Amino acid sequence: MSTLPTNLKHIALFFERLPGIGEKTANRLAMYLLRMPESELKIFGENVSTLKSRTKLCKRCFNLTEKELCSICEDNRRDTSKITVVETVLDLLSFEVGNIYNGTYHVLHGKIDPLNSIGPEDIYVNQLLDRVKELQKADSTLEEIILATNPDMEGEATAMYIMKKLKSQNLKLKISRLAYGLPMGANLEYADYGTLGKAIEGRTKY
Ligand SMILES: [Zn+2]
Repeated sequence: MSTLPTNLKHIALFFERLPGIGEKTANRLAMYLLRMPESELKIFGENVSTLKSRTKLCKRCFNLTEKELCSICEDNRRDTSKITVVETVLDLLSFEVGNIYNGTYHVLHGKIDPLNSIGPEDIYVNQLLDRVKELQKADSTLEEIILATNPDMEGEATAMYIMKKLKSQNLKLKISRLAYGLPMGANLEYADYGTLGKAIEGRTKY
C-alpha cells in the first residue's frame, strides 16, 4: 500500500473503509479506476461530490430522491391502493429489483428498538399515520397497508405498534403482514422450529 502514489493510495484507503471491502480488493478497485476513461471518472467524481447535497427524502413516502417526490410516487402506473411499509430504502429496493410489487411504499428509516432507545418518534411512523389519515379523508383508493418490517424482535414490535395505531383510527383498511415461511428450495428437515411453526400457521389454500 505504501508504494502507491498518494492520490491512488487515498482512493484505495477510502474503498477499504466501505463494508465488505478488504485491502486487496480496495487496491484492485483503485487500479481499475486508473484504467477508466477520464470523462467517466469526472462524472463519477461529480456524482460523489454532490451526493449528499442532492439526495433528499421523498415528501410522501420518505424514499430517496432528488426532487420533491420519488420516482415511485411520481409514477402514475403504480397501484396506489397499497402501501408497503419497510424499514429501509434497501428493503424497498429488494422489492423493486425483484420486480414483484407494483404498489407504493412508506420507508420508516429504522425500527422501534427500546434497548437502543429508539422509539416511534425517532422513525417515520407518525408520518405514515398522518398520510393514511389524509388519504382516507380524501376518499382515496387506498385499501391495504402491508407491514413488511423484518421478522426479528424489533421488526415485529414495530409492525405491532403500527397495526395498533392504525386500528385505533378506525379506518376501513386491510392491514396485512408479510408471510413467514420456508425459503424457496428449502428442505423441511433443516428448517428451524420457529420458521416451521410460522410456515404451518401461515399456510395458504392450495
Ligand atoms: Zn415517494
